[in-house]
Amino acid sequence: MTTIMKFGGTSVADVAALKNVAAIVGSFRQSRPVVVVSAMSGVTDSLVTSTIIASQGQVAEAIKSLESTFARHKSTAKEGLSPELAEAFAVEVDQAANTIAGLLKLSAEYPSLRQELYDAIVSWGEMLSSKLLALILFEAGVNSQQVDARDCIVTDDNYTCALPLMPDTFVRTRAKVLPVLDQGAIPVLGGFIGATSDGRTTTLGRGGSDYSAAIIGAALRVDEIQIWTDVTGVLTADPRVVPEAHTVERLSYAEAAELAYFGAKVLHPKTIQPAIEDSIPVRICNSRAADESGTVVCAQTITSPRTIKAIAHKSGVTTVQVTSARMLGAYGFLRALFEVFDRHRTVVDVVTTSEVSVSLSLDDASSLPSIISELETLGTVRIDQGQAIICVVGEGLKEMSGIAAKIFNAISDIPVSLISQGASSINFTFAVAEEQVHEAVGRLHHEFFREQAVSAA
Ligand code: ASP
Ligand code: MG
Repeated sequence: MTTIMKFGGTSVADVAALKNVAAIVGSFRQSRPVVVVSAMSGVTDSLVTSTIIASQGQVAEAIKSLESTFARHKSTAKEGLSPELAEAFAVEVDQAANTIAGLLKLSAEYPSLRQELYDAIVSWGEMLSSKLLALILFEAGVNSQQVDARDCIVTDDNYTCALPLMPDTFVRTRAKVLPVLDQGAIPVLGGFIGATSDGRTTTLGRGGSDYSAAIIGAALRVDEIQIWTDVTGVLTADPRVVPEAHTVERLSYAEAAELAYFGAKVLHPKTIQPAIEDSIPVRICNSRAADESGTVVCAQTITSPRTIKAIAHKSGVTTVQVTSARMLGAYGFLRALFEVFDRHRTVVDVVTTSEVSVSLSLDDASSLPSIISELETLGTVRIDQGQAIICVVGEGLKEMSGIAAKIFNAISDIPVSLISQGASSINFTFAVAEEQVHEAVGRLHHEFFREQAVSAA
């Protein structure tokens, strides 16, 4: 029995946060945890910035820009560790600083190596945070050991966004991590980083620590992957809009994927793919309220006919409607339409079509003027800015007859557009004007959750 405990950057931002993590990990000792950690908050950004400064030829400035980052690591260690351990860590920080300075110089000199050097540089955020957390745990009386994630996660050489390779990653992870567990120590690994099979450092893309946690969890076939953040799991609605919103106890992977679009607080479907493949539950826990059970995302969710799980919404959306008689009975029209968005690298979210019109929603309206002029060659274009998307999610929707009636009754005086039900049949999505979105979400929450004192997930 093993559990992955992944902590994000804010959970290791300073001594108080690190000590809190040590207490939480210590209290989970019985479940043989393996800890995966992000860089201290802001550190990856600083390292990235230094590579940008260096690429402009300003190596001295690039090196200087990291001084406060290294000082922060040292002062945190000094505050949280015994003098001997703090001194030993300071030596490692100085070595890292020297190595990074050399890499920044190289990156100014050899533009063709920039991506590879970027990974070698930014990986230090996780290298240092995992070392520091292992020491803090040790200081708190928890037997722990840093394990270099680059010896575990084997990737291709697609620098800055490398792809983990199986089964090598599984084999190496087990070989490195299991002996540490067998010695009764808690392994601590940096997330986000890996290496090619010939040992060149890579990173998995920004925010990649969750992905690392899922990969390591799949490799070790753990019982649960815990993602520790500073929110109480997934809520039934945005608490700023619906004060009585409460934590959803359980979501299916599919429900979590539908909700992912509506907020970074929910797991990105890609990051938990390795967990989904092995049906490993992923629990979102709150490091500020460690005794709350958070939200568990897993293969099965109990569906009761009236149960929906959450009402998500997103403002600042633009909707586009293209109407053309040419569409009627013709093929190739939709392709031509989507090619316009493709050319402008603009993501389309919700789409609905009728015989002669297509409506869709966009988050990013920055290329809108040129998109409109190209769309006008296809038909009449109508744009509505200041829209919001509301998405009602729940496996229960599959069997819920009358769901549309219930939704639209609750908001019968609010005009809606772009109504769609995804192929997965677990979401019901539509657009309203931004000014009315809070009112609509509040009423829907009342309608669906008033009988549920706690989530009937
Ligand atoms: N430290 C990396 C980042 O900020 C990875 C992560 O936090 O997940 O992107
Ligand atoms: Mg981070």
